[in-house]
Amino acid sequence: MCGIIAYTGHQQAAPILIDGLRRLEYRGYDSAGISVVSRKKVRTWKASGKIAVLESRLPESINANCGIGHTRWATHGAPTDENAHPHNSADETLTIVHNGIIENVDALKARLGDVEYQSETDSEVLAHLLSHTMDLNNCSLVDAMREVLTRIVGTYGIAAISSAESEKIILARSGSPVIIGIGEGEMLAASDMSALSRYTREVVHLDDGEVAELTPDGFAVTKLDASPADKSSMTLVNNLEDYDRGGYDHYLYREIVDQPDTVRRTISGRLDKRFNTAHLGGLNMDPRDLLQVQRIKILGCGSALYAGMSGASMIESLSRIPCDAEPAAEFRYRNPVIEANTLYIVVSQSGETFDTLAATREIQRKGGFVLGIVNSVGSTIAREVDGGIYMHAGPEVSVASTKAFTAMLSVFALLAILFGRARDVSPQRGAQLLKALEDAPDKIADVLALETHIASIANKHAKCHSAFFIGRTAAFTVALEGAQKLKEISYIHAEAYPASELKHGPLALVTSKTPCVVILPESELLEKSLGTLEEIKARSAPVIAVTDSDNSRIDKLADDVIRVPRSDELVQGMIMGVALQIYAYHSAVALGRDVDQPRNLAKSVTVE
Ligand code: GLU
Repeated sequence: MCGIIAYTGHQQAAPILIDGLRRLEYRGYDSAGISVVSRKKVRTWKASGKIAVLESRLPESINANCGIGHTRWATHGAPTDENAHPHNSADETLTIVHNGIIENVDALKARLGDVEYQSETDSEVLAHLLSHTMDLNNCSLVDAMREVLTRIVGTYGIAAISSAESEKIILARSGSPVIIGIGEGEMLAASDMSALSRYTREVVHLDDGEVAELTPDGFAVTKLDASPADKSSMTLVNNLEDYDRGGYDHYLYREIVDQPDTVRRTISGRLDKRFNTAHLGGLNMDPRDLLQVQRIKILGCGSALYAGMSGASMIESLSRIPCDAEPAAEFRYRNPVIEANTLYIVVSQSGETFDTLAATREIQRKGGFVLGIVNSVGSTIAREVDGGIYMHAGPEVSVASTKAFTAMLSVFALLAILFGRARDVSPQRGAQLLKALEDAPDKIADVLALETHIASIANKHAKCHSAFFIGRTAAFTVALEGAQKLKEISYIHAEAYPASELKHGPLALVTSKTPCVVILPESELLEKSLGTLEEIKARSAPVIAVTDSDNSRIDKLADDVIRVPRSDELVQGMIMGVALQIYAYHSAVALGRDVDQPRNLAKSVTVE
């Protein structure tokens, strides 16, 4: 979602800005633009649609060493050329790019008075406010920025340049990430590490309420009251530069087939075979703290929420600690009761998910202890939580999550073992659980080998308008993510229901035209779920069973069976989930969808 790139230094800025925008592309966007300062003038090009359209509008050469660029994910105003960023001041002496939302835009416009706006965005007002403040106070862009920001309500990551100081970039952050990249005789900034890693490995994260000035030789960070902020740099570990589609047609496919390795990486060094438990270094909780936990509340959005729901059932069933998951945004807006003996766990691949971050801060403000499960090292959530577990999934580029989701489940499995062993789980059972987790990568590889079979089922149903995903208890959370994947990338309407709920409403929609994917793990509830299968079959719906059971009734009742390797309950969901990812992928390919960048969706949702 929405991206910022900025460059000042000894190289030509425009190619670096375009390259940066391309690296931000995976986050999802609807328009793009760049501005540079060239011969003491601000020059701006922008276009709705893909970056290629913007490129086609650029002159052959742009001689400039300083500039900013943006990929927009519209919140205010349609994705048009005019609404694309950057936005210039009326006299075109300065220009800005903005990620986020200005909530008090109407009040700001009213105070500013007579201005002819060129766009419908909330962001444009920033350019006019800055120019107005510079004129009024006869001050520099950075002074104007600090002054203007005291009047802004909302979230922002901002980059601005002006013709008056042609080598300087001004940055600001509140709620939307901005990272400075330190080079030799050049400085960069971006909203995402992936746009920086080609140029530098030395980065500095801006924090909320900070403003930075970049020149080719260095940077200075201040707070809104102009006092200096003490910043230290960190070195990037992941080599995002080397990450590509791995010879496949789509990042999503690569990320699906990566999963055996993902799980190995996530659990590596974390299986404590001496005590048959899990070892998680960054928790900041000792065994006594673990014992104090009386309830666990997991928060996330989208697939991270579904991973949280699966995680809740793993932890609760092994530790008998009451545990549930809730959408982070709902939680933060319902004035939640924060309890001293509740452990709050927030889950986010990017570590920048706005609602999850806001929920984290709300819990901490009320004195709660928050643990983060995050993939992006050094991201905002990773830095702000009280303890954390990195997923170590490696980069995930496709908008729809696959390997990060599986890595989240692996982390929850580790947590479930840890809490289980701190309570009732015996050393013998602990050893079985560790073994199950250790064997999971090979079982995922076995599921990947079923691709041709799964693809043929997906192709058969790709033309359907609606599909249902059905499961019971833990299998229901698998169904939720299966439906999510199908709707995200194939645009087929897909709903997940608990098996027990079917006859309370949704069965009215089940017909011969609605394929039903039924998740049937081997368990004491299998017989009950077979009853549901009968109900669906009686309505002539095509049934696709995903199971690790060899119960022959499944083969009699289902039209197609995806039989995955048998495994411990702890990892069953993770293994079956991979089959559903392959199903969604092949449905999307059959329909010719934009698999890696599905319409209207963004990779990391940094706005409310
Ligand atoms: N709210 C701004 C707009 O609609 C910025 C959106 C973004 O973050 O890309 O233009």
